[in-house]
Amino acid sequence: MTDKQDLLALTHMGETPEKYMKSVTPPVFMNSLHVFDSVKDYFAVDIFNDEYYYGRASNPTVTILEKKLAALEHGERAVVFSAGMAACAAAILAICKTGSHIICIRECYGPVQHLLDEFLGEKMNISVSYVEGKDLKEFEQAIRPETDMIILESPTTLVFSVVDLEGVAKLAKEHGIKTYIDNTYSTPIFQKPLDMGIDIVMHTMTKYIGGHSDLIGGVLISKDEEFMRKIMVQRDWFGGVIGPMEAWLAIRGLRTLDVRMQRHYETTMEIAKFLENHPKIKRVFYTGLPSHPQYELARKQQSGECGLLSVEVEGDVQDVETFVDSLKLFSKGCSWGGFESLAIAYTYNWSEKELEFHHLSKNIVRLHCGLEGSENLLQDLKQALNKI
Ligand SMILES: *Cc1c(COP(=O)(O)O)cnc(C)c1O
Repeated sequence: MTDKQDLLALTHMGETPEKYMKSVTPPVFMNSLHVFDSVKDYFAVDIFNDEYYYGRASNPTVTILEKKLAALEHGERAVVFSAGMAACAAAILAICKTGSHIICIRECYGPVQHLLDEFLGEKMNISVSYVEGKDLKEFEQAIRPETDMIILESPTTLVFSVVDLEGVAKLAKEHGIKTYIDNTYSTPIFQKPLDMGIDIVMHTMTKYIGGHSDLIGGVLISKDEEFMRKIMVQRDWFGGVIGPMEAWLAIRGLRTLDVRMQRHYETTMEIAKFLENHPKIKRVFYTGLPSHPQYELARKQQSGECGLLSVEVEGDVQDVETFVDSLKLFSKGCSWGGFESLAIAYTYNWSEKELEFHHLSKNIVRLHCGLEGSENLLQDLKQALNKI
């Protein structure tokens, strides 16, 4: 059962209808600036406390969203961005400096790896050690005197590796290292990393928080108020602020987040079990299945699962292509977290180097199980697998 405070955060918390004519939904504050009666008033503005002067620094619609997200993750404060990647980059730049060392989970979201290797590595001399993340000793051995940050994702979103969050948080604290997690898979409904000692949580709101595949956005949340003030100032400098319309759409997405997640979970468990027993599927990657090698740890940290899973298809790459192309209800595309089901032949065109780095074959297909209902989705999967 979802926590009763969470349900209030999703629905009413952070909103002040008396300030906007008792409208049941907040307005989209579609303005770039706020004006003042006097010189003194202008210079007295406190952007950290619900006051406004310029849209890049703060916006009332954006603040409502930030209050809800901070409450949902049990943080002191949330700061939202124009994209998940803007949030991620902001966290790295706030924590690290030239010469810093980062420990990052091997299966991290692809563009994060590009940002680390091709930008921060080349331009800022920031070095990275990638770890599989299943063993705390691996983290411990990777720590150097200049390690400033550990970047986690748990579960990851291709093969769904799980990290012992309490263990890593404790180890990092002993060494004065900041921990960061991409919590997009679980949403705040199914996992609360800050309560396990992780310093910063990031979500791309583009996935379940938006939930309707109609916005791009990201967020950082922490219990450390001082750190989040720094993040807010930095957002103002870099300008990666979200538009008020997108913030409003994310507020709308949050209202149904809990019911959507429960349905995604239910549907995807059914599909995962079906695929696990299908002769043309070699392996299913889903942390909801007892066959997942880290099932116990997942049950300890997560109270549910989302709609994303991967399968390794039997046969060769032609079979993979036939399977994916034969799907009708699962559209072919990247991303996930919306109402719609999606399929992508994820490793189909990976280089040998990439396959080796991730210890994977070319036969990995990732599926997002949307809200079309398990009966329709199972029917589609069955007919497509029969085409192989
Ligand atoms: C999509 C995604 C991101 C990036 O989010 P954007 O909003 O597109 O920048 C980051 N992490 C994960 C796990 C994702 O799936």
